[in-house]
Amino acid sequence: MNTTIKPTLTKEQAIAYEDKYGAHNYHPLPVVLTKGKGVYVWDVDGKQYFDFLSAYSAVNQGHGHPKIVRALKEQAERLALTSRAFYNDKLGLYEKFATEYFSYDKLLPMNTGAEAVETAIKLARKWAYEKKGIPENAANIIVAKGNFHGRTTTIISFSNDPEARDNFGPYTPGFTKIPYDDLAALEAAIKANPNTIGFLVEPIQGEAGVYVPSDGYLKGAKAICEKYGCLFIADEVQTGIARTGKLLAVDHEDVKPDILILGKAMSGGVYPVSAVLANDDIMLAIKPGQHGSTFGGNPVAANVAIAALTVVKEEKLAENADKMGKIFRSEMQKIVDSSKFVKQVRGKGLLNAVIIDDTEESKTAWNICLKLADNGLLAKPTHGNIIRFAPPLVINEEQLREAIDIIKKSIAEYEQESL
Ligand SMILES: *Cc1c(COP(=O)(O)O)cnc(C)c1O
Repeated sequence: MNTTIKPTLTKEQAIAYEDKYGAHNYHPLPVVLTKGKGVYVWDVDGKQYFDFLSAYSAVNQGHGHPKIVRALKEQAERLALTSRAFYNDKLGLYEKFATEYFSYDKLLPMNTGAEAVETAIKLARKWAYEKKGIPENAANIIVAKGNFHGRTTTIISFSNDPEARDNFGPYTPGFTKIPYDDLAALEAAIKANPNTIGFLVEPIQGEAGVYVPSDGYLKGAKAICEKYGCLFIADEVQTGIARTGKLLAVDHEDVKPDILILGKAMSGGVYPVSAVLANDDIMLAIKPGQHGSTFGGNPVAANVAIAALTVVKEEKLAENADKMGKIFRSEMQKIVDSSKFVKQVRGKGLLNAVIIDDTEESKTAWNICLKLADNGLLAKPTHGNIIRFAPPLVINEEQLREAIDIIKKSIAEYEQESL
């Protein structure tokens, strides 16, 4: 770590300032970070940690990747923002690159994951009214219980997490919730409402606690959507860009979504970049002036995304995630087998979770995360009893084994102390 740059605030100051001057919409672990490189981050006291959250899978390419940072700096110095009132010489290049990369006709650029989900909803509705002849304001989209698609008013309208939803109403209508990983429920819901236009789903439910659906679920869901002329809309904001051991999580079942939603690692975490991809028959339903974003598709985002996606292929991050993920789960399984306390490990590639034998309301996962931080590894609970482990995909086997030792040691210590 470059120790010549001093942190701006001490740990105590940073926490006190955020508490006093910042809205209280997060509850961070008490760790104050000032620097990152690859799979590591450092706190203001110089302590080094493995980053096993990767900013919720935004930093798949590792912190401070030189190629991505160079793309950001060079383009920021040359031309940062034009708005879409004018053309720029980067957006078209990026759109060509990304549509070839993901095999779609067209891309609609946005900034955050939630905006991309909103865009996909608007696109599906527009397509349905204009191409499918759905009666005015009747379009219905099916979603899965336990979903996480972001924080806008419409998106939280179809969440069933009371924390995300309560007292933010009135809610946007037009959504039906069905159980996740339940094809019969999907077909029944489509049949029950002839104005159903699409199914919006995460290929693995990330925030809910890394729920991997049964084999064949995605393929089956896509087939049901096709049968009834509905759009299969995949939210790959967290699962996409090599995280699960393939470029996209739907690639595990060779499924091609009608609408693909991406965000997070599209930029390797250095800049907000999100996108919606679809073929012409759908994407061209939105006409000039009907949707947009001041920052969406700006030249910095475009240049950064090209670099970030290039790194994923050049460094074979999907292959590495697959390989490292298998090692991770087999080592965690050993803990599960030998511990009364750790119940299950599940996941795909490097999106994994360990489930502790306790209640969802308990503080156990939080307390273990504090212990992990003490021992040099950062992770975050998704619920009281679930810890998600999602390191940058550039992690090598030596680093992974070192991290696994920290996890084993921390869980053993916690178990000892709570006897
Ligand atoms: C993080 C996430 C989002 C929201 O992305 P933001 O950039 O935070 O708006 C949407 N969908 C999924 C599956 C996510 O994990």
